[in-house]
Amino acid sequence: MKNDFLYKCESCGRNFKIDKKLMLCPFCADENPEGKPLRGVLTIQLPGKYYQSKKINQDFDIYDYLPVEKKYFPKLNVGDTPLIEPEIIQKELEYKNLFLKFDGTNPTGSFKDRASYLVSAFAKKNKVNEIVVASTGNAASSMAGIAAAAGQKAFIFMPQNAPKAKLIQCLQYGATLIPIKGDYDKAFDLSLKFSDKTGFLNRNTAFNPMTIEGKKTVSFELLKQMNRKKINYIFLPVGDGVVLSGVIKGFLDLKYLGLIREIPQIVGVQAEKSSFLYKAFYKNKFVLNYKAVTIADSISVNIARNAYTAIHHLKTINGKMILVSDQEILEAQSYLSRKSGIFCEPSSAASFAGFVKMGKNISKDDGVIILLTGHGLKDIESASKTVKFPKPVEPDLNLILKKLKI
Ligand SMILES: *Cc1c(COP(=O)(O)O)cnc(C)c1O
Repeated sequence: MKNDFLYKCESCGRNFKIDKKLMLCPFCADENPEGKPLRGVLTIQLPGKYYQSKKINQDFDIYDYLPVEKKYFPKLNVGDTPLIEPEIIQKELEYKNLFLKFDGTNPTGSFKDRASYLVSAFAKKNKVNEIVVASTGNAASSMAGIAAAAGQKAFIFMPQNAPKAKLIQCLQYGATLIPIKGDYDKAFDLSLKFSDKTGFLNRNTAFNPMTIEGKKTVSFELLKQMNRKKINYIFLPVGDGVVLSGVIKGFLDLKYLGLIREIPQIVGVQAEKSSFLYKAFYKNKFVLNYKAVTIADSISVNIARNAYTAIHHLKTINGKMILVSDQEILEAQSYLSRKSGIFCEPSSAASFAGFVKMGKNISKDDGVIILLTGHGLKDIESASKTVKFPKPVEPDLNLILKKLKI
């Protein structure tokens, strides 16, 4: 079973048998990928028998369309995250078909669980018990948690200055944490050398083909949850561009299966000062000595490792990108919390900020999905910038009522 799923090189189109040792296309990958976007990223090619095998909006089981059998997945509820109808925001902004897809409800609090879940299952199927990952924070804490559920060992390379909650999560889940005196890019390259040397499975985003594939599950869910309502726009945050590729891959697969006819307009949102992919997409250039600086740590990436594939995917579906400032991100984060009860992390709020910025070009009737990828409690440092702590008061009811003018 599942032997008819193949790898496909996003650069040259060649197919390969799925193999735990194969990560990038041997014909296209750079000899030394250090500090560069990855060439020869592999995605999963669905078996030909699935082509147009479904009818529009028919029921389906997502596991039929993943390359690993269900029995290998750890028993943890990943995905199936809520699609929320934010009544107050819908009214205030006059978008009655605006929805929030909140992936902060995943077991470790972020969208990354979708990828880790499939990577863990893949490792289990291939009898590998050690998984290595470099991460700005969420992929690490995610892999640590999912590996714990599966009884696997996680080795984590993380910048030492990652948000504390994400570092603690890794330790709490019992992973081996290797904090790096350097940024994410350094951690990324080092972890590749480490997995090369040890033979452990590397889960780095884009590098491991299961990461894009795992992330496609959100698109399948959205189709079900929207229940025949049209999706015109999806806004999502972009760092390395794997969430972006995963979501697009999901819709391309749905179209291949025959479940949809059209692919929604997908808008990737980056922080103004972490805009590697934006520049690559619109200006056709890679700025390799780029230094990202944004409050949204999960999308703070100097070099987008998935740049070639993400741009290829965006062009295939005629997608767009947009930039937002840190100020706009923080305002969006605070607005979302106050008006919907969803406290998401800054990177996720970037999606919403992107929608607000582009709003005037979007029809009020359009179906709009905002992908909120991570939980706000993962980075209270950033959130604390928009809140004011009230002064402590004496435990005296009358005094409190007077102070609150009630
Ligand atoms: C990783 C991450 C992103 C960005 O995903 P990329 O694949 O790097 O573009 C956005 N939001 C959260 C919460 C993340 O953890």
